[in-house]
Amino acid sequence: MDFTAGLIPLDDALSQMLGRITPLNISESLPLVQAFGRITARDVVSPLDVPGFDNSAMDGYAVRLSDIATDAPLMVAGKAFAGQPYHGEWPAGSCIRIMTGAPVPAGCDAVVMQEQTEQTDAGVRFTAPVKAGQNIRRRGEDIANGAVVFPAGTRLTVAELPVLASLGIPEVEVVRKVRVALFSTGDELQLPGQPLGDGQIYDTNRLAVHLMLEQLGCEVINLGIIRDDPEELRQTFIKADSEADVVISSGGVSVGEADYTKTILDELGEIGFWKLAIKPGKPFAFGKLSDSWFCGLPGNPVSAALTFYQLVQPLLAKLSGFTGSTQAPRLRVRAASRLKKSPGRLDFQRGILQRDANGELTVSTTGHQGSHIFSSFSQGNCFIVLERERGHVEAGEWVEVEPFNHLLGGL
Ligand code: AMP
Ligand code: MG
Repeated sequence: MDFTAGLIPLDDALSQMLGRITPLNISESLPLVQAFGRITARDVVSPLDVPGFDNSAMDGYAVRLSDIATDAPLMVAGKAFAGQPYHGEWPAGSCIRIMTGAPVPAGCDAVVMQEQTEQTDAGVRFTAPVKAGQNIRRRGEDIANGAVVFPAGTRLTVAELPVLASLGIPEVEVVRKVRVALFSTGDELQLPGQPLGDGQIYDTNRLAVHLMLEQLGCEVINLGIIRDDPEELRQTFIKADSEADVVISSGGVSVGEADYTKTILDELGEIGFWKLAIKPGKPFAFGKLSDSWFCGLPGNPVSAALTFYQLVQPLLAKLSGFTGSTQAPRLRVRAASRLKKSPGRLDFQRGILQRDANGELTVSTTGHQGSHIFSSFSQGNCFIVLERERGHVEAGEWVEVEPFNHLLGGL
């Protein structure tokens, strides 16, 4: 029997999801310090030229080319400092002492760096040829007044926000945070700190997903553990749908339990129960409730975290208005150890990427790849992404790896 028939490839699932989602179009204006990680709601246009005036890139001397046509030394007629421009007389045959960042005086053709000058009794002598325009930073050469500095859909980080500060912009219009309601389902689940009853386990998934949501800049509505009880589930779905843009549950989407989750979801919305051609993470549900999108993660903790990472992360990025790429970079490296794999699904094994004795990047397995071994994320630093049709990988074969991003403690 072919257990892989009817499984949906990850890319198809992703394009179905992303094809249906449209970005939130509600924005708010925030001071720069509060806008970290947020997405611009509209193009940010520069109100200024940067630099705002022609200024010196060096400590040295501002000169006019006509004054240095002969090799005669020049007297110093004045000084220009950053924040203290020189507006005084500039007689023919003289130069102006100038510091980095100081506006160049009117008529200046070039700045000669101090290291290419010599002090003589008759004034400053220039020891190297001088080119027109040298060492002058021109007004507007970085950003021109009216230019789009960052288009709508840009994530604001330390690479962007200081640019806005340099433009004198105090606040920025960003898309409002995505609101996500989250709960775990299962009669066996217990809260850390509480004693375990017979056959009970502690709830892992809700914390994993909550933390990833926070790192992605979402507003989290954590609804706790919900029992496998149709009425409790129905009430929870209704509440979650009314409060959030996205509802995320874990558990109850595999064959065994799907039935009444399915019945409730059929009643409240239009949900597809998918069997994804990935490992771990086969069962996954996606669809629309009345007012929100729904993602049903599998119960096994590694599967829940992985499907969140590979499917829900890009969905949230699109909803948040982000227009950049969400495809994580992958590298081709050699396997340092044998990797067990059966053909049929795209594997996301947890691996350890490191340099071997020859300085080559190689990847080894974290060991047991069961979907309940959550510590494999801590032992590993990357996913080893093994193509669907591939079988066992022998040591020395090439494989693709995807380093963990910040959600899993990576870069
Ligand atoms: P389910 O998808 O509900 O059938 O669950 C599949 C497996 O994942 C079972 O072994 C569950 O006990 C386990 N599981 C479900 N939810 C969680 C959770 N929140 N934390 C840890 N394990 C879970
Ligand atoms: Mg369950």
